Amino acid sequence: MSLSKREFLVGAGAAAATLAVGVVGAKAAARQAWDLIVVGGGNAGLPTAIFAAQRGARVLIVEAAGALGGTLFLSSGQMSAAGTRLQKTRGIDDTAQLHYDDIMRISKGHANPELVRLATGAAAPAFDWLLDNGFKVRDGHPITGTTHEPYSRARYAWGYEGGRSILAVLNAQLEPLLASGKVSALVGHSALDLVRDARGRVQGVIVQGPDGRKTTQRARKVALTSGGYTANAQLYQKYEGIRTFTRATYPFSQGKGIELGIGAGGFVHGGEYHTPLFGAVLEHEDYPSPIRAMVRHFPPERPPYEILVDRDGKRFLREDIPSHDAHEHAIRKLADESCWVIYDEAIRQAAPSLVRGGFSGPWTDADTAAAYDKGLPMFYRAGDLDSLAKSAGINPAGLQRTVAEYNRGRTAGKDFLGREHMPMPIGSGPFYALKLHSWNLLSFAGLAVNAKLEVIRPDGAPIPNLYAAGELLGCAQLMGDSQCGGMSVMPALSFGRLLGRELIDFTA
Ligand SMILES: Cc1cc2nc3c(=O)[nH]c(=O)nc-3n(C[C@H](O)[C@H](O)[C@H](O)COP(=O)(O)OP(=O)(O)OC[C@H]3O[C@@H](n4cnc5c(N)ncnc54)[C@H](O)[C@@H]3O)c2cc1C
Repeated sequence: MSLSKREFLVGAGAAAATLAVGVVGAKAAARQAWDLIVVGGGNAGLPTAIFAAQRGARVLIVEAAGALGGTLFLSSGQMSAAGTRLQKTRGIDDTAQLHYDDIMRISKGHANPELVRLATGAAAPAFDWLLDNGFKVRDGHPITGTTHEPYSRARYAWGYEGGRSILAVLNAQLEPLLASGKVSALVGHSALDLVRDARGRVQGVIVQGPDGRKTTQRARKVALTSGGYTANAQLYQKYEGIRTFTRATYPFSQGKGIELGIGAGGFVHGGEYHTPLFGAVLEHEDYPSPIRAMVRHFPPERPPYEILVDRDGKRFLREDIPSHDAHEHAIRKLADESCWVIYDEAIRQAAPSLVRGGFSGPWTDADTAAAYDKGLPMFYRAGDLDSLAKSAGINPAGLQRTVAEYNRGRTAGKDFLGREHMPMPIGSGPFYALKLHSWNLLSFAGLAVNAKLEVIRPDGAPIPNLYAAGELLGCAQLMGDSQCGGMSVMPALSFGRLLGRELIDFTA
């Protein structure tokens, strides 16, 4: 699933034919003064526009892509919300306070308490609103979750078509507002700059159309909801201090809104909490690379038969630790956020499937065998450990020592890292090394806001007329240095809803 902007425009245009590049809504062409301009029509921007228009505001959405929807086209759309009607009907006793406590626990206290309080309080009403408007939750949901650190309660749910299930609800709400001209949209138009007066108050947006023509759209209020920067390798490096290894996100996640906010006096924080995901098999090492496949690394789903080593050939993690967070933090410390899964032929034959698909379609054991046969990048096989290490780029002496040490610990029933699940030794060749990298879906740094979602200056003063929501705030605000399940989609939607419904002050 590696999309260039050009490829994406074709696919998205087909999926949302009513929202093609151009002007949507009768009044957009003529009027150039609005109550609200929403920069970015995605997960946060669409509810901002919908609820503000329902309050009577004249709204313009400026959207760079060829269709409204943003990351919802790709996102799994997993949401966490506590105290929902769905939970009540399933007899699940949950509250916003318990959700807040879980987030602060999982984030190790590094998330922003003020914003976590706002997000956990706003989640259930927004989730219930989705249900009221036709959203269908998967059978058996909500769950505690297994793709990230589990919650203490079953509060994690998503639709059958991931983010597109959410987008369907938003589109149904938006279409009558577009038809009546209460909301207009400049689709395929990018926000280039903010218009400010001599006192620094935001007054509008400079917009560039697909033909390169620039217009000035004036507004009483501007909401920046243009998403993160995961598709912008330079900004990723700048804000998180590490290169991005994978290309798996929305091509329009270029971080432009963050730069607009900085230009207006705002500032960025949170990049130091960079937390990648674990276990991607890349197509190549010309970073950022598409993801070819993933590995099953979460021990409750598949206890490990193999060992994990770093470039020196050393083990760096108790492989059977039942924690995503431990895996994510361990790989974060390694050179190029990469490591190798090491195993032998007997393990290959006996162990459950190690590699799974995900990003580029289904994947079977036959695909894994073919990848080794073809010598695809990341897949290494050799008759002895020394040759394996040399071909994979691991220190040969280190790998030999580590394998011997692991086998001794296994025989003695005492692993130095405390691993308990050691069903087989790493004994005789052929030996295998599968190289893994971290992968990223989220921007951890973002524009600082206060609890009213006003963009603030370094001294804490709000920048007049400028609001922000969504991933542009930086995921560290709601996750600290962890990946908290459903804490990007849900807050983007619920903060957008809050902005539109109540937080944007049209009286001032
Ligand atoms: C594959 C994938 C899976 C994910 N799964 C989950 C999950 O299960 N749960 C979870 O919580 N999070 C998940 N996320 C993250 C989550 O989907 C996003 O963080 C969230 O949807 C972002 O919402 P947003 O409104 O901030 O940004 P977006 O939805 O990306 O909207 C931003 C919009 O702004 C537009 N834009 C950008 N620049 C400009 C500009 N200069 N001018 C005008 N418009 C502009 C973009 O085109 C886009 O439409 C996932 C992300 C990916 C990529």
